[in-house]
Amino acid sequence: IWEEVLKEAKNHISEQEVNTWLKPIKVGELRGDFIQLIAPNRLYKNWFEEKYLNVVKKIFNETLSIEAQTIQVVTKSSTKQKKHTAQTVSSSVTIDVYTTNLNKQYTFDNFVVGNSNNFAHAACMAVADGYFHTYNPLFIYGGVGLGKTHLMHAVGNRLLEKFPKLRVLYISSENFTNEMISALKSKKMDEFREKYRKVDVLLFDDVQFLAGKQRSTEEFFYTFNSLYDSQKQIILTSDKTPAEIPEMEERLTTRFAWGLIADIQPPSVEEKTAILMKRAELMNIDLNEKVALFIAENLKSDNVRELIGALIRLSAYSSFNGEPITIELAKKTLDRFLIKKDKIITFDTILKVVTEYFNVKLSELKSKKRTKSIAYPRQIAMYLMREKLNCSLSEIGEIFGGRDHSTVLHSINSIEKKLKKDKELQETIKILEKSLYN
Ligand code: ADP
Ligand code: MG
Repeated sequence: IWEEVLKEAKNHISEQEVNTWLKPIKVGELRGDFIQLIAPNRLYKNWFEEKYLNVVKKIFNETLSIEAQTIQVVTKSSTKQKKHTAQTVSSSVTIDVYTTNLNKQYTFDNFVVGNSNNFAHAACMAVADGYFHTYNPLFIYGGVGLGKTHLMHAVGNRLLEKFPKLRVLYISSENFTNEMISALKSKKMDEFREKYRKVDVLLFDDVQFLAGKQRSTEEFFYTFNSLYDSQKQIILTSDKTPAEIPEMEERLTTRFAWGLIADIQPPSVEEKTAILMKRAELMNIDLNEKVALFIAENLKSDNVRELIGALIRLSAYSSFNGEPITIELAKKTLDRFLIKKDKIITFDTILKVVTEYFNVKLSELKSKKRTKSIAYPRQIAMYLMREKLNCSLSEIGEIFGGRDHSTVLHSINSIEKKLKKDKELQETIKILEKSLYN
């Protein structure tokens, strides 16, 4: 009979909707004017009731001439669950079977969208709008403090707004591990598993921390499979792509790639400015767009958490001292966190920093010596001069005892080439740059 309903439904709603939302439903009972439908899980149930129940009712009544006074939608698991609770009522349950762990502050409304995060944002919005198994699992990756956790909570909050009964559970992989360990100790593994397998939407944060933890990986693997098989939504975050997480079991990384992988990049100056303005508005801070732009341009870090931290610091300072928030005040209070652009770098500062770092004499650096311990720092100094001072090759040659420009070019090229692969050299350059600016 459901086949008939599906066929007719195509005249009322799109074929995709029929396939997505109606097809997985089964007819449980049909007696008199009472029809019971079984949905695979709560997500379906809620969505179905909100969107399609009326259409289905109409089809039963009008097309199939089945008097459907009451249509009850139940979930598969609710039948199973009942049995389970019947068995376990006597044992006292201490594992909290239903918490969401959601932070209400993290919403879509206060998330600033830009080029750096619009893909991940769109994917999260889609899930929050109910496109559950289209992007399942949804895997979000990006650097620290770029909004992964925020987005994840936003999905959970939005879903609960729409479907208050939905079981949404947010957990970080560390807390998952901790819970598992205490469940193991207190011999409550069944309850632990039960808790995770009961959810409709699992928000699993910082999955990279499971790497190398065999037992938690194992448990998570089974949880993942169980949820995935029953078409529950899973969202994961990580600081790297699945394949890049070291020591992560392959059976997991392949599963992570089954759905959609979305990245978040560091924000641009415009995005940072927008985030500052938004946050200032939320916190009732009187922030001028010019000052926001100044902070966005000059803060050393790309981390949004630190960006917001800078704003809080600035506003605290401003209210303690009763001073308005200006660029001057920002310079004063955020000094340590800002890039020192106005510091003038010269040939001499570069020479000084390089000789100090490598512990070589200036005269040696300028000499014709070609031993590696001298030639390497010399090449790095040349590279830095070219990068930072934008000077000509012959100018650099002059400083180093009248070398010709092709020798200089050769040195610079060799550093540039090494820089692409050599992690140690990349580190060295970073350290040198830092001391140049300080
Ligand atoms: P991650 O989980 O990627 O390390 P978080 O989600 O914890 O980062 O974000 C760090 C802080 O920055 C949070 O306070 C979050 O609200 C804020 N944040 C990050 N990105 C944005 C954004 N695009 N708009 C508004 N706030 C943001
Ligand atoms: Mg996070």
